[in-house]
Formats: sequence, C-alpha cells, structure tokens
Amino acid sequence: MAEPLPPTRSRIPGSGLAKGLAVTLRTMTRKTVTEQYPDVQPDLPPRTRGVIGLFEENCTVCMLCARECPDWCIYIDSHKETVPAATQGGRERSRNVLDRFAIDFSLCMYCGICIEVCPFDALFWSPEFEYAETDIHELTHERDKLREWMWTVPAPPALDPGAEEPKEIAAARKTAEKLAAAQAEPAAPAEPVEPARPTDPEGGAS
Ligand code: SF4
Ligand code: SF4
Repeated sequence: MAEPLPPTRSRIPGSGLAKGLAVTLRTMTRKTVTEQYPDVQPDLPPRTRGVIGLFEENCTVCMLCARECPDWCIYIDSHKETVPAATQGGRERSRNVLDRFAIDFSLCMYCGICIEVCPFDALFWSPEFEYAETDIHELTHERDKLREWMWTVPAPPALDPGAEEPKEIAAARKTAEKLAAAQAEPAAPAEPVEPARPTDPEGGAS
C-alpha cells in the first residue's frame, strides 16, 4: 500500500518575494570578485603552469623528456656530428645536434614531468596562457616559439636567508675572488737594464 503524502505547509503570501529580496541585498553588499579579464590581466602566481619554454643551449638531446612524457607530445629530431680531438693524439668525439624540438600543447596535460626530469635545466614553466588557436595544428609549438617563451619565464625566487649557497654560485664566486686577487697583486719590479757601452771606432770593445 502507498505511503500517505506529508501534509503541505501553509505559505505566508509574499514570503518568496521577501526571501528573494534578502538574497539580492546580501549579494549587493558583498565584495565583488569578478575578474575584468581581458581588460585587466590576472595577477597569477609565479609558479603558474601556462606554457613551456625551451632554453636550447642547455639541451643535450638526451631524449629523457620525450621518453617520460605520459602523452608522448614532445617531438625531438637530431643528428650526430663528429667533433675533432681537442688535443694532439686525442680522440674524436661525437655529439648530438638538435634538428627539431616541438611540444604539442593540444595533447599536453601540464603535468610538468618533462621539466622535472630534464637533467640540464633546458625546460621551464612560463605563466603565459594566451595562446589559444582556431587551428589545432597551431598548438604544436616548434623550437623557435618555445625559445620565445623563455623571455616570459619569471626569475627564480630568492633563497631563504639561512639556505646553503648553491654550488655553482660558490664556485663562480671563488673564481672571481681569485681573479680579483691576482689582478690586485703589485707587479714584480723590473730587472735594471745595463746601459749600452759605446762602440770602439776601431772595432774592439772598450
Ligand atoms: S607537461 Fe607533461 S604532458 Fe606536457 S609535455 Fe611535459 S611531460 Fe608531456
Ligand atoms: S631532457 Fe632536457 S636536455 Fe634532454 S632532450 Fe629534453 S630538454 Fe633536452
């Protein structure tokens, strides 16, 4: 047998209108949080994952980023080049030369694994996000475009006051100090030069 329906509550006439007005008044007095984008650019945190920049000079074409990318959206092409021996009798070396480096941002899921695994600091996050395209193919950014993004990468945050000095900076500082000390040392006095003897008009030394 069906359950009996609960009795309907009696409504005060106009209570719905009063409730609605109360909500309107409450909202009107609250601080607005509407972003005026694109008239006003949003103030994004420095670690925002907007786009990836490539610092090509640091890339050794080790392929680690392409192998670890879960979306397989990093495309790298390279060839080998022989470098002549630096010293006589030394061995020639071969090195990888980058031909193509591209990231397909229509596939990228912004996980940051490529940036984390790069052993040579060649990839960086930039907070730039305004690169929507009407053609999906345009979302594959080639090396030139990835390099352009490097100009938008923010400077790293300052170290904590008690933090240990990074090894690279310590080494560079010591070298600069040594160089400055060597330049500041007074030069050794020059040996006195013996005055030239007058030559004997008859050919013999006097
Ligand atoms: S952020 Fe993640 S998905 Fe995007 S290219 Fe890097 S590893 Fe691939
Ligand atoms: S992991 Fe770094 S160095 Fe290796 S190919 Fe990728 S960007 Fe270049």
